[in-house]
Amino acid sequence: MKTIGLIGGMSWESSIEYYRIINETAKQKLGGLHSAKSLMVTVDFAEIEKLQHEDRWDEAGQILVKCAQDLERGGAEFIVLCTNTMHKAADQIISNTKIPFLHIADATAEKVKATGIKKIGLLGTRFTMEHDFYKGRLIHNFGLDVLVPDKADRDIIHRVIYEELVLGKIIDTSREEYKRIMKALIAQGAEGIILGCTEIELLIKEGDSRVPLFPTTYIHAASAVEYALKDEP
Ligand code: GLU
Repeated sequence: MKTIGLIGGMSWESSIEYYRIINETAKQKLGGLHSAKSLMVTVDFAEIEKLQHEDRWDEAGQILVKCAQDLERGGAEFIVLCTNTMHKAADQIISNTKIPFLHIADATAEKVKATGIKKIGLLGTRFTMEHDFYKGRLIHNFGLDVLVPDKADRDIIHRVIYEELVLGKIIDTSREEYKRIMKALIAQGAEGIILGCTEIELLIKEGDSRVPLFPTTYIHAASAVEYALKDEP
């Protein structure tokens, strides 16, 4: 079993989910007393969030490069960055480390493709819904047709993430807003919806939408275990 290197803290509310899911998955796959071998470094999310909103992505990326290098030195055999948004720094991390990097959008897109869905809704931070690093990857590398909410609804999705979910606040009226926004995407033809922010699945569960949901924390964490166990006898 390979040792998983997790970069957490963005936010820790979802990092603990990663930790739980990778260990539950390892236990399911291997049985008995098995758990996943892992290391986690945790950033101070206040520092990262400030740099994001000041458009200082390179500096935020530098912090994550250092985390990845610390994990590499500590014995991690591949990197799992526990957030969608900071995958904006994926190339920066990859070019400054030697171990493989398991991209969250790739793991998710593979699951979407496996269902045969072509037209997919995407919810996430404003950065994930609007910048090219994530949406572009789904479109160009996987041939998906990606729908995002309109500007007013993107603002709602973004605000709920930064003012509620990363603080551990799960609020019913926000869930209703998310459900309304997902319905609007379905009305435009979305056949499934990517929960493209690692905290959204704390608020939205299967059953809150009539099309399949793709929860990125679960998908990414489970794929990390699969990768850790690949080529095991
Ligand atoms: N965890 C979130 C994500 O998956 C948002 C917080 C962040 O900006 O890192 O995008």
